[in-house]
Amino acid sequence: MCGVIGVMGHPRAVYLSYLGLRRLQPRGQESAGIVATDGESLVQKRGMGHVKDVFTDAEITNWPAHAAIGHNRYSTAGDSTIDEAQPFMQQTKFGKVAICHNGHLPHTAEQARQLLASGHGLVSTSDTAVVLGLLSQSEKDNVVDAFIDALSQVEGAYTMLLLTRDKLVAARDPYGFRPLALGKLDEGWVVASETAAFQLFEGKYEREVLPGEVLILTRDQAPQSLYPFPTTQPAECLFEHVYFARPDSKVFGSPVSSERLRMGRRLAQEHPVSADVVVGIPDSGMGAAFGFHEESKIPLRLGLTRDHHMGRTFIDPNYEIRGLKVKYKLSPVPDLLDGQRVVLVDDSIVRGNTIMEIIEMVRKAGAREVHVRSSSPPVISPCYQGIDTKSKDELIAAHLTIEEIGREIGADSLGYLSREGLLWAVGDPEGKRHCTSCFTGVYPIRVEGGTSKNQHEMVST
Ligand code: AMP
Repeated sequence: MCGVIGVMGHPRAVYLSYLGLRRLQPRGQESAGIVATDGESLVQKRGMGHVKDVFTDAEITNWPAHAAIGHNRYSTAGDSTIDEAQPFMQQTKFGKVAICHNGHLPHTAEQARQLLASGHGLVSTSDTAVVLGLLSQSEKDNVVDAFIDALSQVEGAYTMLLLTRDKLVAARDPYGFRPLALGKLDEGWVVASETAAFQLFEGKYEREVLPGEVLILTRDQAPQSLYPFPTTQPAECLFEHVYFARPDSKVFGSPVSSERLRMGRRLAQEHPVSADVVVGIPDSGMGAAFGFHEESKIPLRLGLTRDHHMGRTFIDPNYEIRGLKVKYKLSPVPDLLDGQRVVLVDDSIVRGNTIMEIIEMVRKAGAREVHVRSSSPPVISPCYQGIDTKSKDELIAAHLTIEEIGREIGADSLGYLSREGLLWAVGDPEGKRHCTSCFTGVYPIRVEGGTSKNQHEMVST
């Protein structure tokens, strides 16, 4: 998962991109970068780690530019080094071009080999570099057509931003796996993975960049949209609604917090339980916990506290503390848990390790019963569309029944929101707009070891 932002036509383009990247920090913490243009040349700054550590105040305020793109990385392909930090920048026959990407292109290895064999260098080992490679060797005579030409040769998930001296081009793959919102600024335009990125500087939400849309932003003209790819049934990521997107964002056009409330309400209808308190697991389980509480009328208590100040975990190899990683982040409130029948609500269970540690922690704090409710269905299959989910071997629900999982994690009862319930909560009851592959193992695109719906073969235009 990654975060992208682009600003066009604003005198503080770098500063706004920086603020937006800080808001998008939860989407990726490995590296951050910005490329900006003053209309003459492109300048790049990238670094490993968090946005606030990569850029100095002086860099952000003294960088003259009217357009910029920025990226936070959470790798799904390629190494984790500074070479892989985005945006990438390359000299091409169209001049300098920069590119950044949220998504994953699972079939680019052969194209990378061919590009290298034919003497074209690649800026990095990642899938994104292949798009830049294909763009540079395209026979099209302008950069937008060459970008479209490159994209039409890849298959998978991409929300991509391209920056040249005078243009910012945003593209979403025809399935629309990853989100991208368009906002209007007091001067110019902004595009970002989530609306919270530009809410901060009062960007006005206009609309989603649509699946399959290529949107061209320039300083002086109105935005221009092209739809150059064959259309297909959209497959927007359900996990963005469940876990990834910030609660103060709209994602795919829908307000995330309201959706999470609905998930929790529906979860309480599907899996009612007699209990004394509902406790949400901070931060990602809180939205659904509120919904569960509203529907079930069981009191909601802040029985777990999230510690935002502990920083990185140092684990002493000579002194083992069970579940230290989880304990570092979360701390129980015994006064609210002691003697209680507790419903723990979380957004999802992936490997099962986190919830297992939390159940133990809550029991040690005196809970009499611990019932677990997950606001996503069981995750049974890996994601090849831009989320770094674990391999199938590590997914607890890929191997055990729900009853077995309940026993394994030590819960008195366990309930998962149904797929129908989740689709209902995100306003797509017939499942016409969303990817459900991590819950079904059926993928909209070709993947190794998975079933493909083969909805559409992508072809070159
Ligand atoms: P575990 O079951 O131990 O793998 O951890 C599951 C928890 O990690 C969930 O409650 C989420 O809050 C969070 N989570 C879910 N998916 C991801 C992901 N792809 N990357 C990082 N954290 C995740």
